[in-house]
Amino acid sequence: MVNMRRLWRGSEPGREKARSTSGAAGLRTLYKDYGNEARRTLARSGLWLAVPVYVLFLFTDLVFIPDVSDITIPARFLIGGTALLVLELQFARNRRAGELEATCAAAVVLGYVVWLVPALQTSNAEAFSYYAAFGAIFMMGVNLFFSLEFGLAIVSSGLIFVTFLLSLLEFHYSAPYSLAFTTFYLCCFVFTSYVNWKLNKERFSVFLNAREAELQQRQAAERGEALLRLSITDSLTGMENRRAADIRLKQFWERWRQDGVTFAVLLVDVDFFKKYNDYYGHQEGDHCLVTVANALADIVAPLGATVGRYGGEEFIVILEVEKSSEALALAESICRGIEALDIMHAQRLDGFGHVTVSVGATVTRDVPGGKLENVINEADRALYSAKASGRNCTRVFDPNELPGGDASENIAAILKIAIQQNLVSLVYQPIQYLQTGEIGAYEALMRLQLLDGSSSSPGVFIPIAERTGAIIELGYWAIRRACCELLIRDIVDTVTINVSPIQLRAPGFAAQVASILAETGVSGHRVAFEITEGVDMEIRPDVLGSIQDLKQLGIKFWLDDFGTGFAGLSWLRLMEFETVKIDKSFLHDAANSAGAKVLLEDIIGLVRNRGHRILVEGVENEEQLDLVKSFGIDAVQGYHIGRPAPPLKHPIAVRQTGRHRLQASA
Ligand code: GH3
Ligand code: MG
Ligand code: MG
Repeated sequence: MVNMRRLWRGSEPGREKARSTSGAAGLRTLYKDYGNEARRTLARSGLWLAVPVYVLFLFTDLVFIPDVSDITIPARFLIGGTALLVLELQFARNRRAGELEATCAAAVVLGYVVWLVPALQTSNAEAFSYYAAFGAIFMMGVNLFFSLEFGLAIVSSGLIFVTFLLSLLEFHYSAPYSLAFTTFYLCCFVFTSYVNWKLNKERFSVFLNAREAELQQRQAAERGEALLRLSITDSLTGMENRRAADIRLKQFWERWRQDGVTFAVLLVDVDFFKKYNDYYGHQEGDHCLVTVANALADIVAPLGATVGRYGGEEFIVILEVEKSSEALALAESICRGIEALDIMHAQRLDGFGHVTVSVGATVTRDVPGGKLENVINEADRALYSAKASGRNCTRVFDPNELPGGDASENIAAILKIAIQQNLVSLVYQPIQYLQTGEIGAYEALMRLQLLDGSSSSPGVFIPIAERTGAIIELGYWAIRRACCELLIRDIVDTVTINVSPIQLRAPGFAAQVASILAETGVSGHRVAFEITEGVDMEIRPDVLGSIQDLKQLGIKFWLDDFGTGFAGLSWLRLMEFETVKIDKSFLHDAANSAGAKVLLEDIIGLVRNRGHRILVEGVENEEQLDLVKSFGIDAVQGYHIGRPAPPLKHPIAVRQTGRHRLQASA
């Protein structure tokens, strides 16, 4: 901080330099301006007080110099009146304090002169010799009564002194008188000038103090502002950080509570960003984040939405909306906008070649006991759902969707490391073709071991893998593994592998499968993909396209768990399945009720009419096997045929009854 006092006073060696700096000159100018208004008022009130007093001295004129009072008295009125008139004009014209003070000084000097000159003509010499002492009062007036600047004060009091000295020549005093009065005037001049100098110095010091305090205050305010700015700014992207976003959220929340202004919160998360960092390096990662941040800011700016960095590779957008379709539209334009940046990302797990984001959005709704935390929570869940739906997409929070709990968080974390840590494995369940009695295929089933050694049910971990996207990497792993464990070794003719719609939708899925087949040297004709009917799967063109590509590789498609969902028939209408697996619940019910038996028969009839091979799942005993045989179905699967088991360590490379070549395992 600049020490103004030191700079100005310059008691240090740099004094002269400091004085000559433009800083010092600027300070002078500032000082001239300092308190201008107060000084104007002071000069005005001073003169209005001084003039009447000056005029009232007409009585002393009458006492001491009555013979010339006919001149001195009108002169008093003239000078006093003129001075006040000039001053008022200056005041009305808003002239600066310095000019008003000059008028006061001139009034005092002239007041002295126009009194002294006629008074010198008096015949009352003795009385005047005393009366002349009153001149000192004028000197006191300029130096002490008015708050004049030192220069102006010394000039005017000097003029008064000189006038007095000149009067000595005109009026013939005695030598001792002249000496005494000159000494008196001189002392008066010196002392009052000294006091004036001191007062001016004091005034300047007050000015400096005030400036210094002002400066300190301003610097403190600026420092405070800079700190505040720093504390709410993200150092990498320069956009608002999480703290700022939290403040904004609070403001939006208050407005929503008080005035019912609805708002949307969008969480935008970069997809597979860890992979990006791992491959391109952290610095490139930072660069990518900055590019994404700038693009986001550009996209949301026209809508007046605020955007901030909410965490690592997650951004938050908040905006006032009237309905949730507005939030969805913005989310979509964010997704498309980032995709359009076309930032290379060769290492994505899903085959997309560039950086994308997933967006989860929520809009405030009237719910009892609503809390701000819930808003973020909802957006987070929507984001989670967007990730689960294959990424590069948007989801608006649906209050009817079930939340994932701690256990699923835990499993989601395990799934990320499952392949590296050997926590995931495949077991194979035999499928018998009834015509030949041969084990014609094995279904590969995924198993997940948890860190404590226990295992997680596929019914639990597969949906989580689908939701987190882990299914894509796990899927490739399973295909490669099944090829290596069974097909390369020629243990069985065909392996069926469960494939999630999320995998089918992942761009580049067919190409990746082709490369696994090429790498393992396995023909696509020996692989079948089972699609579960139960999965609520949109039959989108990209999924159908992917299926067509896979069929080109020779891969067959089986429809799993037929009869459990609603989509099965539409699927049957849309595409050719080599085999349709009828859900085990039909067989189990058929054993207990005649009606259910008829239903099973009907379902078999329905599928057969479509010309598919029919497999019944869940054959657990001889009676059930006899029953399905009586329906003339093609294949069976179930504990009675064989339980899912890991592959033998040293399998016999002959295709026989594969049932005996897998270790028995529950
Ligand atoms: P998902 O598609 O599920 O979002 O996968 P992801 O890899 O993007 O998500 P995850 O949360 O596993 O990884 C986020 C990564 O973001 C991990 C971390 O290294 C990276 N990251 C976080 N902050 C920064 C940053 O400031 N700079 C860089 N370069 N990377 C960051
Ligand atoms: Mg993340
Ligand atoms: Mg991410």
